[in-house]
Amino acid sequence: MANKSWKVLVTGGAGYIGSHTVLELLQADFEVVVIDNLSNAYKDDNNIKPECILRIEKLTNKKIVFIQCDITNLNELRDIFKKHKFHSVIHFAALKAVGESCEKPLEYYKTNVCGTLNLLKVMRDFNVKCNCTNPYGKTKYMVEEILKDLCTSNQEWSVISLRYFNPVGAHSSGQIGEDPNGVPNNLMPYIAQVSVGKREILYIYGNDYDTPDGTGVRDYIHITDLAMGHVKAMIYQKIHNSTGFKVFNLGTGKGYSVLEVIQAFEKASGQKIPYKIVERRAGDISASYADASLANKELGWQATKNIGDMCLDTWKWQQNNPNGYKR
Ligand code: UDP
Repeated sequence: MANKSWKVLVTGGAGYIGSHTVLELLQADFEVVVIDNLSNAYKDDNNIKPECILRIEKLTNKKIVFIQCDITNLNELRDIFKKHKFHSVIHFAALKAVGESCEKPLEYYKTNVCGTLNLLKVMRDFNVKCNCTNPYGKTKYMVEEILKDLCTSNQEWSVISLRYFNPVGAHSSGQIGEDPNGVPNNLMPYIAQVSVGKREILYIYGNDYDTPDGTGVRDYIHITDLAMGHVKAMIYQKIHNSTGFKVFNLGTGKGYSVLEVIQAFEKASGQKIPYKIVERRAGDISASYADASLANKELGWQATKNIGDMCLDTWKWQQNNPNGYKR
């Protein structure tokens, strides 16, 4: 079947990772329906669609069906599945801030676990058993266990769980990117806001880790590479008619320290990023990077962009959109 007649439901398609994946899916000719509750997306009062979806439509010259819906609402989900015949689902709709999850644990379990259960229930009832998911944070273990049990219970399910390392950067057009609410939790959007003068100084959380320069090391991956990982997973399911539960790491396999990221960003942007070393952040580890060889072997996927590309595209997006999607 041609990608064109392959209809994909993307939950959370108006978020950072969702929006970049929607763009790549459209470019690979898939038909896309997006649902999102807009909890983390900007929408102008005069439009029915959020700004990022409008921009993707412009960039791709294609239309996206957009439905504002919360995955915790089972009846609304049912109505959507009644109306559309989906071949696959890519599930991004989740809450993902570690700090916030400690303050509002019940909201996190409700959205990430109950919301996912709702989605799986409706998928089962409407016989859509092709699923590609990426649960966040503390709930991710739970949801992967649920998915495993589901795949064991019925061999018709085909689930791919993609484990992300640190997605950063923006689409090379500079038109879509990461637009965090409030103070960014993550390193790259924080640096980006310092670079355009929205924030004065970056706080580095500790330089006494067991790493070459003492600052935390992470595997940063360009958002477009990550989005392409989803396209490859979708094509894999479509071509192989695969069944069962599979997990793939999506990363570059190479780690960069906080100081190295700052250096790369300064080089790409020509801006000085002032910083101050402060206490370690609770819950942080010294180093984390991926072995993405399985994704390469099975999905034929690999990261193509380096840290310089990631910084350059972040800088381009931030410069064009100093206030994110809100003009
Ligand atoms: N970090 C930092 N200052 C910030 C945000 C992050 O020094 O304002 C460090 C953090 O301690 C970690 C790395 O940058 O070593 C990446 O953190 P991020 O929150 O982006 O991703 P995480 O790997 O924690 O999910």
